Amino acid sequence: MDFSIPDEFRDRLAEIRRFVDSELAPLEPLLLAGEWADLESRLAEKRRKVQSAGWWAPNLPREAGGGGAGLVELGLISEELGRSPTGHFTFGCQAPDAGNAELLLLHGSPAQKTRYLEPLAAGDIRSCFCMTEPEFAGSNPVEMGTLARREGDEYVIDGHKWFATAADGARFAVVMAVTDPEAPPHRRASMILIDCDQPGFELVRNIPVMGHRGRGYFTHGEVRLTECRVPVSQRLGEEGAGFIMAQERLGPGRIHHCMRWLGICRRTIEIMCDYALTRRLSAERRLADQQIVQAWIAESAAELEAARALVLKAAWTIERQGFKAARDEISMIKFITANTLQRIVDRAVQIHGALGVTDDTVLSFWYREERAARIYDGPDEVHKLAVARHLLKARARILEG
Ligand SMILES: Cc1cc2nc3c(=O)[nH]c(=O)nc-3n(C[C@H](O)[C@H](O)[C@H](O)COP(=O)(O)OP(=O)(O)OC[C@H]3O[C@@H](n4cnc5c(N)ncnc54)[C@H](O)[C@@H]3O)c2cc1C
Repeated sequence: MDFSIPDEFRDRLAEIRRFVDSELAPLEPLLLAGEWADLESRLAEKRRKVQSAGWWAPNLPREAGGGGAGLVELGLISEELGRSPTGHFTFGCQAPDAGNAELLLLHGSPAQKTRYLEPLAAGDIRSCFCMTEPEFAGSNPVEMGTLARREGDEYVIDGHKWFATAADGARFAVVMAVTDPEAPPHRRASMILIDCDQPGFELVRNIPVMGHRGRGYFTHGEVRLTECRVPVSQRLGEEGAGFIMAQERLGPGRIHHCMRWLGICRRTIEIMCDYALTRRLSAERRLADQQIVQAWIAESAAELEAARALVLKAAWTIERQGFKAARDEISMIKFITANTLQRIVDRAVQIHGALGVTDDTVLSFWYREERAARIYDGPDEVHKLAVARHLLKARARILEG
């Protein structure tokens, strides 16, 4: 396996890192203090800088106005952007818009591309993705209550969704709804594009997460659909293909997510080291001189590199052999990286003492917001079951001769 990258790309990564550290990290106090209006206008200005530097939307092909990065390249960019919570947003490749844009590119009709993809890719509008429902287990999404009933040339949609990230201020939603309750479970649902100002589409609330409700992009919405009527032409892709498309959306998304988490880990280790070097326990002793702190730093660095090697290997396998060949690795990186992230952020909080639990450093934001990493994108347990099932099946075949 060769993970080497061309010098030119290495230089670009270094520039992106400098931009994130010097232009975005200083905005973190606005995010931590919930000063949304100020943050949004500062980010709009940074987005313009990113666009003029030619770094915008690295996940999208050039013909769609993006940077056309391959999966490994995109992973490495995502790692740099992960260093600050606004990195991906500023570079136009934030969840859920990145995944929605990729879906529209693959499955959108020409009219859908003009109406939704073009302004989305340009960063002029935002979107959300409504699949999970409070009444049903999201880890088994074939169980779903949202129904799109066909009436002539329209779908009439009724349902209840939640945890639609960034629904507040989104122009449109990609809504997963059952279009044929009689079909086999994985062919029942379709994806439907719904404008958020459409009658019958209601953002009920921004759900508070551990005491923080957020605003705009930094939210998770509860959504109710009541007799929401849209033309059948608003369906994205084939009828019944919703789950297949959702799976497609998750594959490359997993690499971006994991690399973003690793970016958080690297910055956290730097913050941990800086604090350990400057915090004095007495005139002679710093935190950095304590072996237990040194052990935490070394363990964190080793865990980061181990997870990173696995994520890059998964991306490398996908690029060369496709998603099927990388199936288990894609599951493994989910739970390995999410847990690595949480251990490292937790150690950093501990090293900072009381300061660690305040909103005076970015650590508390990650501690709170990234707890969900073990839950979304498939709970860890589901991925572990999948990996174990494949390994056990392979061994059983050997035992049975
Ligand atoms: C911050 C955040 C952002 C999100 N963004 C979006 C979004 O934009 N759009 C969207 O549609 N959804 C989103 N989600 C929802 C997310 O996809 C679901 O939370 C996830 O799929 C799990 O579903 P659930 O919460 O219903 O948990 P459940 O399915 O009820 O599972 C609960 C717990 O049970 C355990 N479990 C589940 N299955 C098994 C099993 N087979 N074996 C053993 N244990 C198991 C796991 O520990 C799991 O955490 C988001 C969630 C969070 C927290």
